[in-house]
Amino acid sequence: MKVFKIVLIFGLCLFIHNSCVSKKQVQQKEEVKEEKVEVEVKKKAPPIEQKVKKIEKPKPKKDDEISLLFIGDFMGHMDQINAAYNKKTKTYEYDTCFSKIKPILSDADVTLGNLEVTLGVKPYSGYPQFSSPPSYAAAIQNAGVDILTTSNNHSCDKRKKGLERTIHILDSLHIGYTGTFINSVEKTKNSAYVINKNNFKIAVISYTYGTNGIKPTPPNVVNYLKKETIKKDVELINTTIKPDQIIAFVHWGDQYKDLPNKSQTDMFVYFKSLGVNIVIGAHPHVLQPMKWEKSVKKEDKDNLVVYSLGNFVSHQRTFPRDGGAVFKLILTKDSTNTVKIKKANYFLTWVYEPIVNGEKEYYVLPADAYASKPETFTKKKDYDKMMRFITHARKLLGEHNENITEYK
Ligand SMILES: [Zn+2]
Repeated sequence: MKVFKIVLIFGLCLFIHNSCVSKKQVQQKEEVKEEKVEVEVKKKAPPIEQKVKKIEKPKPKKDDEISLLFIGDFMGHMDQINAAYNKKTKTYEYDTCFSKIKPILSDADVTLGNLEVTLGVKPYSGYPQFSSPPSYAAAIQNAGVDILTTSNNHSCDKRKKGLERTIHILDSLHIGYTGTFINSVEKTKNSAYVINKNNFKIAVISYTYGTNGIKPTPPNVVNYLKKETIKKDVELINTTIKPDQIIAFVHWGDQYKDLPNKSQTDMFVYFKSLGVNIVIGAHPHVLQPMKWEKSVKKEDKDNLVVYSLGNFVSHQRTFPRDGGAVFKLILTKDSTNTVKIKKANYFLTWVYEPIVNGEKEYYVLPADAYASKPETFTKKKDYDKMMRFITHARKLLGEHNENITEYK
């Protein structure tokens, strides 16, 4: 009897447990069903709150942006002309000279440099009166350069023929230029080279302190660095072109001096007084400091000057004329058409002249990249020379630059 009771109680417990479990399972299944329904509803109709948010807070329009790269002097010494000459094809080939630096020159919306030679007047010649083959300009363009300034102390080296041949060759290659003109009518028509890109309208103007005592032959015009000329040009540009920004590329300063002279600093002040707040310089054949003067008041413009970018390519081997800098500037423009300087940095460059298969070759090297590649130089002496230039440049620009550092 006892045994029968125990079996009966155990059986009852088992029944009650099973019925509880099955209830739980049903409940869970129902919950899962409910969740699924909820998810489906969410997908079909997003909550009203989200829709309202999107209307109230539209994404702000991104500012327009443009990157500009400035290069110093493209010189054309006799050694460079001879090195470019291919005896087999009897042509002048300059492309290898820029092969190592091309990635940097091409990596900008617009690249500008100073052409310190005349083009196409034979016999080709180096210092003191430069004339280089047209293929030099073609190679500069192939390397990524869009615009060349032609007003410098060598603009009149080959008189009227040289000045006009240079313009015709640049025109035929579709390279932008400014600084010299066939006549005053052409100058009035093209008072600036206008960059129309990325929704920016930037006017580039170019001036030189002089032309080595050789005056332009009438009716040719060379832009001289004279206050009255600049004022007249800027007024004309502001009324006819109405640019967002004017940039002056000037040829000035004392040769081989590390620091700007008084006439350079005074002229920068004058440019600023006309609203030309970005001034890029060359001619001293060596580097001079770069300054980015940040405005105190939000509504005021920043000012920027690069006193000298040095030689980009030349046969000047005396330290520190053997290198230069490429300057990269990024501008932004907001919905009120206000142009602002966003970023300003420089790359150091150095001219390497190795002898390859018995012939001299020219290479403009990105100096920082090659500082870690001593094995690529055929002579240790050359690597040491580049390192001497880098050390000097970093010290000079490190001490005197304002808000502008090396591009890393
Ligand atoms: Zn010069």
